[in-house]
Amino acid sequence: MQHVACIPTNENQTRTLLIVDDEKNVLQALKRTFRKADLRVLTAQNAREGMNIIEAEDVQVVLSDFRMPNVSGGDFVRDLKHQHPDIVSLILSGYADFSAVTDVMNSGSAFKFLSKPWDNQQLIAEVDTAFVEYYTRREQQFYLNSEEADTFGYRESIVFERTVDALIGNQVPFAVSVVHLHDLHFALAHVSDRMLQAYVNAVSQAIIAKLPAETEVFRTEFDKMMVVTPRVSSENELQTELFALHQCLTQLSTRVSDDIQLRSSIAYAFAPHDGRTARELMLNLRIVMNPEVQGSQPVKKFDPAMLNRKRRELNIQRAIGHAITDNEFSLYFQPKVDLASGQIQSAEVLMRWQHKTLGWVSPAEFINLSELDGQIEALGSWLIENGVRQIAQLVRRHPNIETIALNVSARQLANRHIIDQFTHLLDKYDLDPSYIEIEVTESCVMEDMVNTSKILWQLKLLGMSIAIDDFGTGYSSFAYLSKLPIDILKLDKVLIDDIHACNDTYRLIASMVKLCRNLGIRIVAEGVESESQCHKLREMGCDSAQGFHFARAVRQDEFERLLLNQPFALPKAQ
Ligand code: C2E
Ligand code: CA
Ligand code: CA
Repeated sequence: MQHVACIPTNENQTRTLLIVDDEKNVLQALKRTFRKADLRVLTAQNAREGMNIIEAEDVQVVLSDFRMPNVSGGDFVRDLKHQHPDIVSLILSGYADFSAVTDVMNSGSAFKFLSKPWDNQQLIAEVDTAFVEYYTRREQQFYLNSEEADTFGYRESIVFERTVDALIGNQVPFAVSVVHLHDLHFALAHVSDRMLQAYVNAVSQAIIAKLPAETEVFRTEFDKMMVVTPRVSSENELQTELFALHQCLTQLSTRVSDDIQLRSSIAYAFAPHDGRTARELMLNLRIVMNPEVQGSQPVKKFDPAMLNRKRRELNIQRAIGHAITDNEFSLYFQPKVDLASGQIQSAEVLMRWQHKTLGWVSPAEFINLSELDGQIEALGSWLIENGVRQIAQLVRRHPNIETIALNVSARQLANRHIIDQFTHLLDKYDLDPSYIEIEVTESCVMEDMVNTSKILWQLKLLGMSIAIDDFGTGYSSFAYLSKLPIDILKLDKVLIDDIHACNDTYRLIASMVKLCRNLGIRIVAEGVESESQCHKLREMGCDSAQGFHFARAVRQDEFERLLLNQPFALPKAQ
């Protein structure tokens, strides 16, 4: 009898793993390992049974024992490779079989060799990788089978380049667009090749139907089509046509599957103005397609300013690495003033960077970019090390200061490395953790509420206080305040700017102040630039204020001078 077991999973589940092993207890243990993984698991006790299941079921990955009676695991995966080349096989075996397994690996029949006894987490990760390999193989196969697309769009790219370069030679302006079918890779796992091919064909036809005569389409990449439109009567008209095309693509995508929504977007440019070769046009259109640039806009035009921005971004990203090692960054301090006494109760540490050729680069710019390419880890470590060192120095000289705030970005809060870092540095510089305040933006918290809140609680347990930064710019939800260990709420400058002009904002801030009081949360107003704003905030009972009205961010020595010359004068009650 066939030994088939299905682990119940959700209805959309399609990933199926077949485990083949002659030992029942091993099968049971492996099934338990994958119980929590998002998989359908089938089992067989020998190669023949395994092959029968594969004929009857849609299996993508096979995990097979090596030593089995009659047909060995090696022969089984060899047969499998022959009959079902897409299926990805993993071999699980004892070290004693190593040399025999090596032969199988060398024959290319198995994707990986895993050893018994196994580590559960590692095994799950390896099986995940095998599923990725399966979908990659299918993507390649899809290409090879596809009638109008050649392997990896190589030939199409060449024809596209020749077509564009020839048109550029004619000196008549024309349009080049790219249609990006975002979720095509993802769709591979959910719908049949035939269905997907029909969708791609329908997209090509829609492009031809919606755009002016003589438009040509080139499938240069799996999920991208380059479109050349030689006759464009006006930019407005082209834009209208592209919007209509986008709508049409959205409708087409609903025919592919009820469950998944295939998004698409279009970027366009004019040659030769936006690029003097096909390559240049393609690269420029890539800039537009970047999610940071295109955002949720379905149709977007290339603008040469994007290129300058991109160049600057690349220069900044390149320079950040050197800047850390060459010690080009420095830390400035901006006071937070107690609105009852005018005393500097705290300060925010802000990074400053003056680059040889780029000049002063705003932290808003370089922090964002370093988050995108992962350099934030190094930058954040530099900040925390130097921040803790300078804070320790400051509080030793000025014990009346209550806290100093460090900004921490989303990526830094993604794992608990930051906890170890702080623990180590607090010890190294002999600093009481209660002097440190951590500022995190509300959008950073909302990105991954569960994880971030865990890390924040751990920082809080170390003895630091937690401030929510830029409150009022994003979700501004009070619902999460009670779930997080929040000590301080920083009202963003946009709210403070509105305090006079808008009665609603005034009332909103006043009620937030009241609510926070009840929750034991201090309120700091950011970006306070005038005496009258300061007055209003005092009237409402806001605790502290930070802004150019008192001081800009200054070097440590200047900040120490401010500490010696305080309190700041406060507006008299009116
Ligand atoms: P933020 O944390 O909201 O910092 C406040 C920003 O507002 C600072 O800009 C500050 O100079 C500016 N500011 C303060 N008072 C006023 C005012 O009255 N008027 C105006 N117009 N602006 C005011 P800065 O230093 O350019 O920093 C920008 C952003 O860069 C920061 O926003 C923060 O998100 C990020 N940043 C700065 N330093 C660090 C850092 O060390 N780590 C991390 N992760 N982010 C940092
Ligand atoms: Ca901040
Ligand atoms: Ca802020």
